[in-house]
Amino acid sequence: MHAQTNQAAPNLTASKNALSTSVINLQKANDVKLMYYPCPATGQKHHMVGRGRGKAYKGAYPSTDLQINGYCTQCRDCKLFIISEYEPLWADVKSLGKYTSGNADYDLSNLATVYYTNDF
Ligand SMILES: [Zn+2]
Repeated sequence: MHAQTNQAAPNLTASKNALSTSVINLQKANDVKLMYYPCPATGQKHHMVGRGRGKAYKGAYPSTDLQINGYCTQCRDCKLFIISEYEPLWADVKSLGKYTSGNADYDLSNLATVYYTNDF
């Protein structure tokens, strides 16, 4: 596992509450066509990497309205992330299922991310 920063983007309500879990509270989701429009960091496709488990709750922390209990992937270049029902990097997966996305200006946890959003 590579080193990760503990630094949240100044314009986001994001923090890490533990060594192994990223928590992102009430951030507006990004464009849903994330796999198809160019990565702003490279001008190419996003380069998504696995970040382990992902959960998304509707509302602000500490909402218990669980919407997605799935996986987190993140673009290594622009840091856009997806919380999705299915793991899009697995060869047999053809759909994200239910998902949401947003931006973090840092590498998320490789184990788990919890995302609080009103975008449901
Ligand atoms: Zn990207």
